[in-house]
Amino acid sequence: MSRPCPCGAKATFDKHCQPVIEGKVLPDTAERLMRARFTAYSLCDVDFLIKTTAAPQRENLDAEELEEYCDSIRCISLKILATEAGGPKDETGMVRFHASMQVDGKRRLHAEVSHFHREDGQWVYESEDEAEGGEDGEA
Ligand SMILES: [Zn+2]
Repeated sequence: MSRPCPCGAKATFDKHCQPVIEGKVLPDTAERLMRARFTAYSLCDVDFLIKTTAAPQRENLDAEELEEYCDSIRCISLKILATEAGGPKDETGMVRFHASMQVDGKRRLHAEVSHFHREDGQWVYESEDEAEGGEDGEA
């Protein structure tokens, strides 16, 4: 089965996000985890989303709520705008992205800056900032 990966990578799903979500491949970069999480949202893979959330935040996650949220949206596409650190040798990382999705039948662009760090050597999702508007300008 070689369908396109929901995260928009050039590689197909079975070679990209699928092995990450199935735990066969550990994401070496924060961006890779970010992409796999986007794909997990689009597939409603709540277990993966919970597993890859940092411990303190994980405690506040409600699997049912998360599942309802996943069911209520349709992920259309992901665009990574910028990354900071988050490489194989980094301990923290940041990914700025636009996620295009459909909510209640309406198309919505979700802009976010996600923060990641390593927990026991593995990348986990820590928190998000609403991406600022264009005012401060991208120097
Ligand atoms: Zn992917």
